[in-house]
Amino acid sequence: MSISVKNITKIYGEQKALDNVSFDINTGEIVGFIGPNGAGKSTMMKIITGLIPATSGEVFVNEKNVNDSDLHFRNDIGYLPENNPLYTDMYIREYLEFVAGLYKLGVNARTRIDQMIHQVGLEAEIRKKIRMLSKGYKQRVGLAQALIHDPKILILDEPTSGLDPNQIIEIRNLIAETGKEKTVMLSTHILQEVEAICHRVIIINNGVIVANDSAEKLITENSRNLQTIIVEFDAGMKKEVLEQINNVTKVIHVKLNTWLIQSNAEKDLRPEIFQFAVKNGLTVLSMQKHEKSLEEVFHELTK
Ligand code: ADP
Ligand code: MG
Repeated sequence: MSISVKNITKIYGEQKALDNVSFDINTGEIVGFIGPNGAGKSTMMKIITGLIPATSGEVFVNEKNVNDSDLHFRNDIGYLPENNPLYTDMYIREYLEFVAGLYKLGVNARTRIDQMIHQVGLEAEIRKKIRMLSKGYKQRVGLAQALIHDPKILILDEPTSGLDPNQIIEIRNLIAETGKEKTVMLSTHILQEVEAICHRVIIINNGVIVANDSAEKLITENSRNLQTIIVEFDAGMKKEVLEQINNVTKVIHVKLNTWLIQSNAEKDLRPEIFQFAVKNGLTVLSMQKHEKSLEEVFHELTK
């Protein structure tokens, strides 16, 4: 089950929320969809699930246009909307029965609901109305409703937002586990989450896709024009002298005999620093190449 988004533009009144957006998500992939607030993530997800129409462009779910009259593709999609709207006056089981009814699960509903309650770990809370649940447990109910019809595709809009650090890890593990046999598109502000569970990252900013690659590749690609080395020598050295090393563009004193040295060159700076040390009778006590984080890359691409 795949998703293919082709040249989607969405205009709300005067506001262009999505501007000619195209990307694919392949069967079995877990893709992180990230971007600042207002970038267009929720809008894109609503268009993929067929909840709102695009102004122009097309979305294909498993090669079928979602705008074609039959809504069968909806059975293939599980969707957890932003802010997870639930009927809070219902009991957990009552709510899941309601959702099972919408998907016409019929005689299979009961077994499936039991499976879901077990899978997302709701047994201990099963006697409570949804209103009484903590945010983490509400999120489990949201996941259960998204998974109940065993969709091949999961679209999760900020599933861990507002959760405490322990709940975040629990929900993240649940997504990683249930996502194993599914195609997953996940929006989040937690970039470690993306690095931990996503095969690929799509970054959107102001309605435009600004990156689409694995987190690793995004980091190496965006680090290419700037290397940062942190080096500790066994003795003092003057900044001006360090600035004379080939290709060095910036030198910052960190502490004592430790320096941060930057270069815009493609060539690895470390051998140069090492040779410099030898030439000047210094010993290199430690030398590390500082890698950019996904957070820094995200910041650069969306500022
Ligand atoms: P994100 O989920 O990335 O925070 P959204 O898709 O919710 O972004 O919003 C994208 C842009 O579209 C924002 O500027 C938002 O204000 C605007 N927008 C979203 N929904 C509507 C709407 N129903 N009517 C008008 N503007 C909207
Ligand atoms: Mg949103």
